[in-house]
Formats: sequence, C-alpha cells, structure tokens
Amino acid sequence: MSQSEPLHISTRLLHPSAGGTHSVSAEWQHRPSATPIYQTATFDQESPLEFGEFDYSRSGNPTRTGVERVLAELEGSRAALAFNSGMSAIAAVFGLLKPGDEIVASTDIYGGAYRLLNRIAERRGIVVRFAALDDLRAFAAAVTDKTRLIYAESIGNPLMTVADIGGLARIARAVNARLVIDNTFLTPLNLRPLEHGADIVVHSATKYLSGHGDATSGVLGVNDPKLIAELSFIRNAEGTALPPQECFLLERGLKTLDVRLERQQKTAAKVATLLAECETAGEIQRVRYPGLRSLPGHDIHRCQSAGDGAVICFETGSLERSLLLVKSLLLFPIRVSFGSVESSVSMPFSMSHASVPKELRTVNAVPQDLIRLSIGLESANDLIADLSRAIHTVSARRAPAVEVRSSGAPICC
Ligand code: PLP
Repeated sequence: MSQSEPLHISTRLLHPSAGGTHSVSAEWQHRPSATPIYQTATFDQESPLEFGEFDYSRSGNPTRTGVERVLAELEGSRAALAFNSGMSAIAAVFGLLKPGDEIVASTDIYGGAYRLLNRIAERRGIVVRFAALDDLRAFAAAVTDKTRLIYAESIGNPLMTVADIGGLARIARAVNARLVIDNTFLTPLNLRPLEHGADIVVHSATKYLSGHGDATSGVLGVNDPKLIAELSFIRNAEGTALPPQECFLLERGLKTLDVRLERQQKTAAKVATLLAECETAGEIQRVRYPGLRSLPGHDIHRCQSAGDGAVICFETGSLERSLLLVKSLLLFPIRVSFGSVESSVSMPFSMSHASVPKELRTVNAVPQDLIRLSIGLESANDLIADLSRAIHTVSARRAPAVEVRSSGAPICC
C-alpha cells in the first residue's frame, strides 16, 4: 500500500454547464451557473404509458441527479445515492439483509448506528455481532457463512480507532459478505474506501460534505450495478431520497469542500500539537488524532489516507474536569454534530453515544470524560488561545463532583 495522493475537486466537476458525464445542463434553459432547485413533486407526462426521465420527485429529481453526479466523481464510484440523512443511508444498507442474515460491526461506531443495529436490525431477525476495529482476528472469528455485511467506520467515532480497510475486505470476501465503510470523518478527499476493497461507502453528508450545519443529508457510494439497483429500490420504496432544497445546499457545500477541509485540517494539526503538549505536561490525557504518531493504527491510516480530518478527542481524567473545561470554552459551542465551518465541542458519552448498551461499553468503552472537538474555519491562534486558557484553568482547579446519567437516553445526533 502507498499513501494516497490528496484529491482536488476540479472546477469542471462543479460547474453544471461544463459538460461531461456529470452534467444535467443539456436539458436546462438559460445556462445557469448553479444547479437550479427543481422544487416540484411531480413532472407532467405525454400519456399514461409514456414516462419521461423524471415523473415523481421521490423517485428522481434533476437537482438530485446533479449533486449525485458530483458525489460519484468525488467518490470515484459508478453511482452515488443521496439520502435525507446519514441514518437513512445506513438503514438502506441494513435493508439489504433478510431474517437470519448476520452483520459483524465494529464496536467503535456512531451511537445512532448502534441503535439501528440493536433496536431495529435485531428486531427484524438479523444477527448482530461486534468486534474491536483494531483486531482483525476478532472480525475473522466473528464472521460465519451467514455473514452478509461487515460494517465499520474508517476512523471510529468517537475513539478514533483506525480501520484496516484492505484487511477487512479480505475477511468479507472469504465469506462472500460485503464491506461497508462509513467515511464521514475523512471525506472522499482524504480516503476513497471503494479503492481499498469496500463495497459500499457511507457518509453523513450533514457533516463535512455539506459543511455548514444547515442540511441533514446522507450519501452512499457504490460500484456494483446490482447493489446500486437494490439500494435505489429501497430508497424509493421507503421514500428516503434527499429533497431538492437539500440537494442544492449539499452541492453548494461541495464546491468549497476542498478549501474548507484544507484549512480545517491545518488548524486541527496545530490544535493536536498543542493538546499533545498539554498531555506531556500532565494537564490532559490520551489525545487522539489520526495525524498523531501516538494514535494506535496511525501507520495504517498513513498508508490508506491522504489527510487526517479535523476531529480531535482527548480526556481529562475526570468527568467533572471535562464538564468544567467544555463549559469554559468560548469559541467552541456545545453541539452534537461536527464537520461544520464553525468549531464545536461535545462529550460523546452523554451526547451522541448515550444509548450504547452497557455490555458494549465494557468492550470498547467510551470514557465519560472524553471530549470531542470539531475544528472549524476560525483563526487557529484564537482557537488555540481559547483551548490553552480553558485547559490551564481547569487543570489548576479541583472540580466539584457531578453525577451523569446517560444510559438509555435518546441520541439526538
Ligand atoms: N455516521 C457518523 C460517523 C456520524 O457521526 C453520524 C451522525 O453524527 C451519522 C453517520 C448519522 O448521520 P446523520 O446525522 O446525517 O443521520
């Protein structure tokens, strides 16, 4: 394996009237510079027996076709399917299975994916097993001839475990299963999992792809025509396609993904360096960032990815200190999500991963004091000053005892 080259979004790709396979502009009047929003539920037909390219927006809409062509080029996939959320994209993938089929999933995944596996997939008779992402032997031991899917995140949310995508793909192939990689943390600019053996790539496009915290959306990237047809069928049958307004926002967001991510990653690297220094000084603990050599799996990450993303996690050693620290930050609003132009902070144990069952928490526990930072476009100096001040203040102070009850709480994001 060699380190991937960073990808750049070409202006050709993003200009709807520039020609090429991605363009739907041939049918457009007035040569618009941005893809128009086809805010219509239906399209008129010549007769009941003649169907045009579009008839009903749940099934197909030109604004969606436009953004899906850009997404497919970015992903390097035969097709990209836009969904009304990351969760509906993941649910469509699990919808490929029938009762008795098995899924082996990584323990380090987004809390909402756990919920779908434990509370929905199992109810439909699908057998779900978990394995630690940094232990390929555990995956190999968990699969059987009934395993249809292996599910993992390229960088686990929130523990930043690195997926060895090639290794997982080999295990999946051996039992005729599909490998599904959620690549939300890294984006296709840093990593294209299909090129490393994955069959389906998932994104919560609510995060970096749309990038402004204003469009809930999800994407699947797929090469196999049979899978494309099955997933398109499920999306149409369940009515989970991305509506035209959000398609427009997602395509607009994609136009700046390259420059946003470049700046966010540069700042994230500086913030990670500061945090690593604070760790050395004993002020905080266990800084996790894919760009840090200290992260287990860093070498695998370096081989398969061209960049490190802009999410960083660390611990303080105490829930009370973490709560104080998070509340004393001035430039990091407390938000469940990440990947937006604005920086934010969250505590996954009581927020995004609140309903992960207790038995799984002991396998790959999300620490109560874990703090997750999402780095935005603000000045690196300002963010670093804010974080340094908060860390120094809190580490010098004894925090009051706080009781946190998160088990069973609803996941908001
Ligand atoms: N995948 C990951 C890694 C996530 O963090 C999230 C949400 O935070 C999702 C999927 C679900 O996406 P959405 O919130 O767009 O439904």
